Amino acid sequence: MNPAAVLTWALGAVFSLLLTYVLASPVGATIPTFVISFVLYLAWAAAAAGSARTGPSRSTWPTAPPGATPSRRPPVRVVDLSHPVRTGMQVFPGDPHVRTRTAATVAQDGFRVAELHLGTHSGTHVDAPSHTVEGGADVDALELSSLVGPARVVDVPGCAPGRVVRWADVAGQLERLAPGTIVLFRTGWSAHFGTDRYLEHPVLDPEIARRLVAAGVRTLGVDTLNPDPTPTADATDPVALPVHEVVLGAGGAIVENLTGLAAVDRPGAVFAALPLRLAGLDGSPVRAVAMWPEI
Ligand SMILES: [Zn+2]
Repeated sequence: MNPAAVLTWALGAVFSLLLTYVLASPVGATIPTFVISFVLYLAWAAAAAGSARTGPSRSTWPTAPPGATPSRRPPVRVVDLSHPVRTGMQVFPGDPHVRTRTAATVAQDGFRVAELHLGTHSGTHVDAPSHTVEGGADVDALELSSLVGPARVVDVPGCAPGRVVRWADVAGQLERLAPGTIVLFRTGWSAHFGTDRYLEHPVLDPEIARRLVAAGVRTLGVDTLNPDPTPTADATDPVALPVHEVVLGAGGAIVENLTGLAAVDRPGAVFAALPLRLAGLDGSPVRAVAMWPEI
């Protein structure tokens, strides 16, 4: 209960006692009842207005604990899980190269503007269903609530290049999943971002994707280029994307090229990766983050 509410109840109790005393005394008989009622009403209304200004005593958003020294930092810790977007950064073999260019400068134009050239799957990004599913939902139609939710980080450390992660390897870390949980696979492969080795990343057995979708998971994330095997740029056969087909085929989303998952080191984190509202497109760069209340 907040202080204003306590004051409201205290005033009510005090005036009730006073009323009882006055009415029981000889003077009470000489005071019209409507005067007493009006005075009581004014006192009660003033206290109730103070309570309303203070707001509800319970909040779902964390507040600083009582006695904490004032801080300009909000009581939420936010960890960045995104690669910086810059010219020449590594992309999926054959994808458009990333280039940024200065389009206006403060010195010449009075303001600064950059021009971006990049693919929809550049850097840390989300795949919409239409990435691999004919007629699937585009990125601007993704339900944003499916991209914000409780995170479950699954550790698969020490992977050899091209390792296939099986359900048995991770089943113990995927028990009791609440629907809407966002499952993030932490292989540590993001350390190789920008090198040829990054293309030899571990992959997920599609059985993992099938079981996660069956458990109500709509979004999964990887700290690799791809949950499926990545072909070389000169490969001519159509690529096989079984994990994509399962997750995106169910209307879900995949977040790729995550980094910094080592910082997601305690339970209770909320993950968020919101795409640009790119109309009718198949994916978008995101700013992926994990968040915790700092109390
Ligand atoms: Zn992608």
